[in-house]
Amino acid sequence: MRRCGCLAVFVFAIAASVRIFAQTPAALKGLSADLSRYYFKTPADEVAARAELNLALAEMSRYKGQLNSAHQLLGALRQNETVQNLFAKHEGYLHLRCSQNRKDPACDADKALESDVDAKTAFLDPEILAIPEDRLRGFLTAEPALASYGFALTDIRRDKLHVLPEAEQRLLDQFQPQIGDWQYDLYQQVVAGISFGTVETSSGPLDVVRQRNLIAAHGDGRVREEGFKRRYAGFASQRDLLAFALIHTVQAQNLLAKTHHHVDAPARKYESLYCEPEDTRSLLAAMAQHGDIAKRYEKVRSLDIDRDYHQPAHAWDMSAPVQELSPPGTSLLDARHIFHEAFAGLGKEYQSEFDALVDPANGRADILPGGAANRYGGGFSIGFDRGKSILFFGRYDGTFKDLSVIAHEGGHAVHRQLMTANGVPPTYDHGPSFLFESFAAFNELLLADFLAEHAGSPELKRYYRERWMSIKGLDAFYGAQDALLEQAIYDGVVAATVRNADDLDRLTLKIDGEFSLFPASTPELRTRWAMVSLMYEDPLYDVNYVYGGLLALKYYDLYTTRREWFVPRYIALLKNGFNQPPKELLHQFLGIDLSGPALLNDDLELLSRRLDQLEAN
Ligand SMILES: [Zn+2]
Repeated sequence: MRRCGCLAVFVFAIAASVRIFAQTPAALKGLSADLSRYYFKTPADEVAARAELNLALAEMSRYKGQLNSAHQLLGALRQNETVQNLFAKHEGYLHLRCSQNRKDPACDADKALESDVDAKTAFLDPEILAIPEDRLRGFLTAEPALASYGFALTDIRRDKLHVLPEAEQRLLDQFQPQIGDWQYDLYQQVVAGISFGTVETSSGPLDVVRQRNLIAAHGDGRVREEGFKRRYAGFASQRDLLAFALIHTVQAQNLLAKTHHHVDAPARKYESLYCEPEDTRSLLAAMAQHGDIAKRYEKVRSLDIDRDYHQPAHAWDMSAPVQELSPPGTSLLDARHIFHEAFAGLGKEYQSEFDALVDPANGRADILPGGAANRYGGGFSIGFDRGKSILFFGRYDGTFKDLSVIAHEGGHAVHRQLMTANGVPPTYDHGPSFLFESFAAFNELLLADFLAEHAGSPELKRYYRERWMSIKGLDAFYGAQDALLEQAIYDGVVAATVRNADDLDRLTLKIDGEFSLFPASTPELRTRWAMVSLMYEDPLYDVNYVYGGLLALKYYDLYTTRREWFVPRYIALLKNGFNQPPKELLHQFLGIDLSGPALLNDDLELLSRRLDQLEAN
């Protein structure tokens, strides 16, 4: 009965929630996290409690230079967990307060505490690496309790071949800002100095950069085109300096990789994700060969535009609104009902965890309709061992994208909670980003699908199906486009075929042309390399979106075809933590082979079926 009641509420919500959103004052209040209940009573209490953390750090420092017995090694690993646990509670608290108000002193305190803890625990990994192999084997035999740290030790020691003598590493660390960090600083400064300007609209000017999403989704094609062209022209106006910063990023990363005895920077990155560099390179190449899947979606959107606007679609029209369909806004109250229903298929345990997270009585979510000055606009979750996880979302406007962000970040929070409830120690509560992100992205697929299934009209159903495809369905392919471009730039710099902005333009048009219809006819797109800021900020990170996206689709595939088999295994994987390499975890719990061709092939089949559906309508 309860299920039916909820269903009635949200179907109504989807049909007419713009009105509900506007009319319910309670819905505008938002949710606030009760930090005093789960973290510290007051900011002063948090400061006072740092004494305990400092004591733990002092205790930790007693192990420095003393990892000379099984007993000492076990003591250091255990003490490190105590430190990380205490720190996570402070860090989460300060980070959340800082996000509520960017001018809060918590922001500086958070950074200071983090670098203090990092500095005082930095000796552990190099000292573990320095233990000779046979000695460590002896420790493991002598002290059975070390067995539970087995994977953590292997994880640290797999870097063995790449470690530099301490003095060399210290020197490199000291010069890191001048070797590898200045390029992103320069990028930010150059971009900040570009005057992109505004686009005039019937309701006033829109900022080309800050309001680019509003411009891209504007109903007036002239606004979309002008915004697009001004943004590309802005980046092109500084192409030489931006190319200089990018090529120096690549040179620095390749040099650092070689200094650490890796073949090159891409190999170093792929290995850090527990992937064989050749496997990752072949995967990216195979995805480019199947880049047509992303082009098919562009064709679907182009036909929508043709039909709605009676003119051919351009690169800047892909987010144009469907005529006469204003997707409904959703109040927070209705959003909670939607999440309750959307995650029902994941079983009672997951569903109740998500319900508990967004239940106002629990004070575990901080979501503010309309946002606020000085409040961080994005979303994240925090959590620590023995504490409750908390979800933060800076600005809620009731759009579908907002619901999707809550499904994603709430997914991280529920995942943390499931690990905590299962007693996963801090050593194993974090893992490779792509695996972490795959779980959150899967929630977004479930949400879009659920809204499509329960949409009140065929137009709205199509709208959510297209969002399913564009927000997460094709994520792996958009990620592959960026990862392949980045890899090609690294290869090109080594081969001296990429030396300036012209070379970067050429490479961008070639690779983007494999995934998109527009580069051939839209010369502006050649400057896209300058807009992929992640290449400067976090070199080679993009490949995480490839694996994360492919896995989320595979979970979705298993969820829809073998739900009874999949769900208990998936929940067990979430609860397990990261005590093995990702490949092994995926194989053991879900029978997924991360390096074989089946993952991509199964996903392609799924995407193709979903595109058939969109093309048929
Ligand atoms: Zn995430």
